[in-house]
Parts: sequence; C-alpha cells; structure tokens
Amino acid sequence: MCACHGDADAEAFAPTTRPMPIRFFNTRSRAVETFTPIDPPGATVSLYTCGPTVYAHAHIGNFRAYTFEDLLQRHLEWRGYVVRRVMNLTDVDDKTIRGCRAEGIPLAQFTARFKTAFFEDLEAMRIRPAEAYPAATDPENIGQMIAMIARLLESGHAYQADDRSVYFRLSAFPDYGKLAHLDLAELRPGGRVRSDEYEKESIGDFALWKAWDEEDGEVAWESPWGRGRPGWHIECSAMATRLLGDEIDIHCGGVDNIFPHHEAEIAQSECCTGKRFVRYWLHCAHLLAEGQKMSKSLGNFFTLRDLLARGFTGRELRYALLSVHYRLPLNFRIVSLEGARSALGRIDEWLARLTDHAGTAPAEPHPAAGSDAFGEALDDDLNISAALAVLFDAIRDSHRALDAQTLTAGQARSLLDWWAGIDTVLALSPEVGGIPAAVQALADERAAARAAKNWAESDRLRDAVRGMGWEIKDTRGGPAKLSPVKGAA
Ligand code: AMP
Ligand code: ZN
Repeated sequence: MCACHGDADAEAFAPTTRPMPIRFFNTRSRAVETFTPIDPPGATVSLYTCGPTVYAHAHIGNFRAYTFEDLLQRHLEWRGYVVRRVMNLTDVDDKTIRGCRAEGIPLAQFTARFKTAFFEDLEAMRIRPAEAYPAATDPENIGQMIAMIARLLESGHAYQADDRSVYFRLSAFPDYGKLAHLDLAELRPGGRVRSDEYEKESIGDFALWKAWDEEDGEVAWESPWGRGRPGWHIECSAMATRLLGDEIDIHCGGVDNIFPHHEAEIAQSECCTGKRFVRYWLHCAHLLAEGQKMSKSLGNFFTLRDLLARGFTGRELRYALLSVHYRLPLNFRIVSLEGARSALGRIDEWLARLTDHAGTAPAEPHPAAGSDAFGEALDDDLNISAALAVLFDAIRDSHRALDAQTLTAGQARSLLDWWAGIDTVLALSPEVGGIPAAVQALADERAAARAAKNWAESDRLRDAVRGMGWEIKDTRGGPAKLSPVKGAA
C-alpha cells in the first residue's frame, strides 16, 4: 500500500537526488508527515511505547504492537539514529490488584512472574531490549506521579473530590479529544470516571489518584491526599517524562490506547509542563481473531507460549506479525504461521545456497545488493510489504542467476552482506538451535522409545512431531536432527 497520500510536506515529493526523508502517519494529524526529530537528524530519537499490564501472560495481539514498535526502532537505528526507547510495565491497576488478592499474595510477588515471562517472550520474538523498563510501582515513579498530581492541583487542572480521590478537570484542558478527534461539544462530558478504561459515552473528569478502598487490600501508598494509588494514565505520563523529558519524539501503542489512555496522557503531561508532550503518535491496528479484537476480556487469544507448544517458533510469529503493514487490521489464523514458516524456508534456502556459492570470495558489486530500495520502502511509513517484495524479488532473481550460472561468487557474497544489513531491521535470520521446547521434548521421547526398540511408539512420536511441523532425520551414530517440514503451508 502507498502511505504517501496526505503528506503535508510537498518538498518530500519534489524530484530529488537525495534520499526521501522518513515519513510516518501521525494519528494526531491523520496525515503522513516527514519525520523531524527534536534533536537534529543523525542524533537521538526518544520513543515511548506503552508496555504490558503484568497480570497475565501477554497475548499475541500485544505482541503485534511490540513487534511493530521493534521494527520502528530498528529501522530508525539503521538510518543512523540513536533510539532511546522506554517501555513501561503496568504493575499496579485494577486487574493486578484483583489477581494478587485472588491468590492471597503480595502484589509484587504476583506481578514478578509475569514480568519474567514477558522478558522471555520479548527475547523469543527478537525484540531489541529497550533502554529502560520502568515499573509503575518503582518508588521514583510513584514519586514523580505524586509530584505531577500536586502540580496539576496547584494549577487548577485537578481537584480532590468528596470520595477523597483526585480527578483531572477536563474543562481546564480544551485540547482534550484532539488526538482521538472527538467533538467534546457533542459528547458533553459530565461527572467523573474512576475506572481507567472508560467509554466515549461516559467521558468525564478522570482519576489521577484513587483513594484507598477495601478492594485495594494491602495495595496503597501515602500521598498528600491520603492513602491510595495512581490511576493508569498518570503512570505513563510520569514514567515517560521522568525518563525521556517533557517532549518526546514518538509515542506508540495499539489503536485501543488512543482513547482514553493517550488522550489522558497528553492532558496530564501538557498541563504539567506547558510543552507539547509528543510530536508523532503512531498506533498499530488490532490483531483480530475471527474478526474481533484479540483480547483477554473476550477470551479469544493465544499467547506465544500456546504457539510454542504447538511447535511454532517466535521467529515464525515475528514474521507473521511483521509482514502485514502496522496500520492494517490483521486477522490471525494458525495458517498464517504456516505461511510464515514457508516464507522463512525460502529465506533459509536462499542463504544456504548463497553461502555455499560465495565460499571465501571477496564481495563484488551487485545491483540488488547496492540498492537502497528496501530501506526506502520502510522510510515510507514502514511499508513492510514493499520492503519484503524487494527481498523476495532479490531471492527469485538470484536463484535464477545461480541456475543460469551468471551469479559470481563475489556477487553472492555481496548479497549475503546486504542481507546482514537488512536483517538488522527484520531480525529474521535462521534459528540457531531454535527448536521449540515442546517439539524437542517429543523428539527426546522418541529417541528414548527408539533406543528401547519400541518401534510403534517411536513411529507415533515421529508422526506427532511431524504434526507440529517438524521433521526428524536420524543420523548415523549421532542424535537425530530436527528441521521444519518443507512446504508446510
Ligand atoms: P495492555 O496490556 O492491554 O495495556 O496492552 C499492551 C499493548 O498492546 C498496548 O499498546 C495495546 O494497545 C496493545 N494491544 C492490546 N491488544 C491488542 C491487539 N489485539 N492488537 C494489537 N495491539 C494490541
Ligand atoms: Zn501507557
């Protein structure tokens, strides 16, 4: 898809010999804009990405957001920027409190296991680590939230209500609704909302600090307004501004974050600092299951762990999520992973063939390897479909040249070097020993059955492994080898 429509910067379309600038679709303006960071080009980009609420394992809808943000970070880095990315961990909210109370354990103990699992999943998905993963309950973050709320009270943007909670005064911020393009005159905000996730119909003054009530159990912090806990929205405003400053280049999330979460973040941050909080708002469309948003509340979700147990890899899920433009809805089906496996198989086969042909030859010029078409496609609002088309065209053409014996060893080397460059963005290089644990466990069981000469069981297990998309190849003397079934799609 071409994302150029609506670019406000006419200069970007002028015939020019210099590379096109990077362009992003900004939710705030609903237009594709030329990316100009606060720092001069070539320097630093600050990126804040809303992270998981650690009350359960993240589902793969969440990973659609994190994978798109990873592509964004990696592309900016490839283009020479130093990216300072911060991803928060929401480790106190209604859901985490409910979870720890149900288990009768302290909040920190309850959330710790989901934090650990989240970092394992990030690694399996090859998501480059952020500079910081602040947690809402870190004392310095709670301190920053309290300081921001105090400032908002002082300036009249907030007030303490009869229920002892502190609320943001919507009428004191006329820009509320501009990100989500809401017409406040039409919606006529009224009353107060204590819940973090309110609908547009119930728009009203939202909670910054929630006074303690029985449902909170042991979870509470002291504040100048009494015991209580922060609202979800102030958590992100506090962590973003504390770690990245009052003005941030890019802020991301899924489209469900636009309202009310990001709208509230803007209101709180801008009323505290008097500065524009974020220059570029980027939001990914939802990952869907059967046409509906994949979510915990609907129960229509898979976790990465579910997919690993079915024999898929993080690399395959990464490809499936990455290969569709981030602003297009993506309907998830298991066959999408089979398609991903087959596409990755083509890349692996190509790399193996090139490596074999290149030997130790020094690089020689090759048109595809010398072209910037892949990067230019991503400059265009992360147009991944066009970028992958460049890759697969190069794969097809070099196979043809190899068949016709017209590709030199040095050109094969150049293509491998080119791949090494673009793979710093894609992060799709072949797995090194990347066999899912569930597959490996069955293969180990089969090896034991085979050693015990239990042929029926050994055959049954081989079929089970095959059913998970993996082929067992016995070797003489050594352990059996596992490889993805060819053409599983
Ligand atoms: P949460 O843990 O619900 O706060 O979500 C963490 C991140 O995942 C946020 O950026 C959400 O917008 C995003 N997200 C949640 N569900 C989906 C989905 N089905 N598709 C894409 N992104 C999602
Ligand atoms: Zn957030």
